[in-house]
Amino acid sequence: TTVSDAPALSFARTLNSSPATTEERDAVLANPGFGIYFSDHMVSIDWTVESGWHDARLQPYGPLQLDPGSAVLHYGQEVFEGLKAYRHDDGSIWTFRPEKNAERLQRSARRLALPELPVGDFLASLKQVISVDAAWVPPGDDGSLYLRPFMIANETFLGVRAAHTVAYYVIASPAGPYFTGGVTPVSIWLSTQYSRAGRGGTGAAKCGGNYAASLLPQEEAAQNGCSQVLFLDAETGQHVDELGGMNVFFVMGGDTLVTPATSGSILEGVTRDSVIQLAKDRGMTVEERDISLDEWRDGVDSGRITEIFACGTAAVITPIAQVKSADFTIGSADAPAGDITMALRKELTDIQHGRAEDRHGWLYRL
Ligand code: PMP
Repeated sequence: TTVSDAPALSFARTLNSSPATTEERDAVLANPGFGIYFSDHMVSIDWTVESGWHDARLQPYGPLQLDPGSAVLHYGQEVFEGLKAYRHDDGSIWTFRPEKNAERLQRSARRLALPELPVGDFLASLKQVISVDAAWVPPGDDGSLYLRPFMIANETFLGVRAAHTVAYYVIASPAGPYFTGGVTPVSIWLSTQYSRAGRGGTGAAKCGGNYAASLLPQEEAAQNGCSQVLFLDAETGQHVDELGGMNVFFVMGGDTLVTPATSGSILEGVTRDSVIQLAKDRGMTVEERDISLDEWRDGVDSGRITEIFACGTAAVITPIAQVKSADFTIGSADAPAGDITMALRKELTDIQHGRAEDRHGWLYRL
């Protein structure tokens, strides 16, 4: 923690007068799914051109009042983050590398012409929610409370320019284990018709528009029996970029991990960065570079590529069995989860849930 990480804002607190009962909450936590239920409180902070960030408050969770002329509803000036709070065995609540999310939110905000929230205030906003809603962090080995900070342009103005008034919020949603009944390798769909990000576009920003654009190809993936869509780089259509909501890795030659470089069109995943570190710790070579479909196909055929996996906050690490497109398939549906994939997955989840030594100081107590 550095001096710049100290929060500048102080939070006014209004508690929810009718929070969920213990019985209601326990019923939700027994089977939370993902993104369906929300905790009792939320944070909001306002921003204006004149006053900067102000009026930080913790308040009951509830609907926003938004003028129909709000800029975000028309031009999508919005950015968001996603990270998890974990309950350790002693009951303490922790999150994972939140300063990375704070910094990414700042980069996303810059790209969307939104104001940057200081890292210290971002961290304080998460602590505020947990200070009253810690009971919403599910117990058990694999549950978590998903934290969703987001920022919207709420100026009532239909002119196309950066808004002069903005609001930042944090909401929290309990999440169950992503894989019930064991981690199973997934099939992914290669989108040949659609791109996710162009040169100079918003691919590296976590903004709603990127996800809106991924929904149609994601539906195509689902129709073809695949759980995620894979995008190639828009410029050449030759190289692997990332999945709709996850980064992608290849294990090559047994001791080398290869992943696309973050050159502006893919999201700089916190899980991606952590996997790279854990692989280096294991003595593996990590290469951040272009990977073509041809290299993927040849590598699987020759046996040089032994494992493929996707990673992100939601599912942590997911083995990939095969990639399918309208014209071809690489790999096979029954390919087993790789040893390195599963070892990295265990290492990462053990750190997050407090079951292994946090040797890189990645955990942050909320
Ligand atoms: N790529 C995209 C497009 C994503 O939405 C996500 C999820 N935030 C990721 C990669 C993985 O990022 P992280 O590991 O920070 O969750």
